[in-house]
Amino acid sequence: MNIQITKTDKSRISEVDFDNLEFGKMFSDHMIDMEFKDGKWGAPEIKPYEKISFHPSMHALHYGQSVFEGMKAYYVDDETVNLFRLDDHHERISNSSRRMCIPEMDKEAFISSIKELIKLDHKWVPKTAGHSLYLRPFVFASQEYIAARAASEYRFIAITSPVAAYYKEGFNPVSLTTSENFVRAVKGGTGEAKAAGNYGGSFLPAQQAQEAGYTQIIWLDAKEHKYVEEVGTMNIFFLIGDTLVTPKLGGTVLPGITRRSVIALAKEWGVNVEERRISIDEVFEADASGDLKEVFGSGTAAVISPVGLIHHEGKNVTLDQENIGPFAKKMYDEITGIQYGKIEDRHGWTYPVKVK
Ligand SMILES: *Cc1c(COP(=O)(O)O)cnc(C)c1O
Repeated sequence: MNIQITKTDKSRISEVDFDNLEFGKMFSDHMIDMEFKDGKWGAPEIKPYEKISFHPSMHALHYGQSVFEGMKAYYVDDETVNLFRLDDHHERISNSSRRMCIPEMDKEAFISSIKELIKLDHKWVPKTAGHSLYLRPFVFASQEYIAARAASEYRFIAITSPVAAYYKEGFNPVSLTTSENFVRAVKGGTGEAKAAGNYGGSFLPAQQAQEAGYTQIIWLDAKEHKYVEEVGTMNIFFLIGDTLVTPKLGGTVLPGITRRSVIALAKEWGVNVEERRISIDEVFEADASGDLKEVFGSGTAAVISPVGLIHHEGKNVTLDQENIGPFAKKMYDEITGIQYGKIEDRHGWTYPVKVK
């Protein structure tokens, strides 16, 4: 793969306080930039992180043809940085693109340019345990064009941002509430695409939930307002008795890559895993009968996020509000162990990048 690389003549790394990283505020020295024009993707370029300029008529700003990914690079040792399930991220951005009528990009261009970017900016991968370099690849309609139909010019850009461990002082269980007035996704809509607009629509309900004292919303299905789908930025799991239950995919749930990893590992451990519809009433019943052992979310940012409380129509399910459950903890340790190269990767999930 021919990747043109232009290096910055002045690294900004000395400006970073690696002991006080704030999520999504600092960006590394370089970025990937690739253009779709005249019916085809060009070659990826790596260049200094910089402002991009656009016309007020840029299509994506008006109609939201924009999709993204979120993943991380993990420090293993001075020679190696691990990426995780890159092929799955490529597959997902391709699926998201297809749904949003954005041309799909070549797997090789995606994977090799990301590896090159990590190689070039490897000093930005924090070494502290649990810290990582967050990667944000995204594609948007860049054309100067405000007709309400798919654009014919796009840009793929990937930027990276050093981030601290999600849990700095022990696991902090989140509290969730259902929403009476809002839904996240409907069958046939864009819920299973990692599309920018899905987030735009979720901020108002999320803000209202936070004002009411909850961390995030646990979304119910749009039609019957009965079945659990997922949380703001995470998929959700319920350990009921000895069975791990998670809402099945099927159009409205974002197919999380952490979700996929949790399911694969749990099955290997001999745990009975069910991907099926689960109603909020069933969650309350399992709690009442004492069968609800643990609830946790899964996503790239936190990996595993214990849930301490679920509120629905004036009633609460309360779990351990101080600690992570033993199953969730085991899962967290296993996945992060594989990501940081401490546990053997028996699945071919990691992409070690040799940086020296
Ligand atoms: C990205 C995302 C997830 C989690 O996916 P991962 O691949 O595990 O990070 C879950 N739900 C939504 C809505 C998301 O956008």
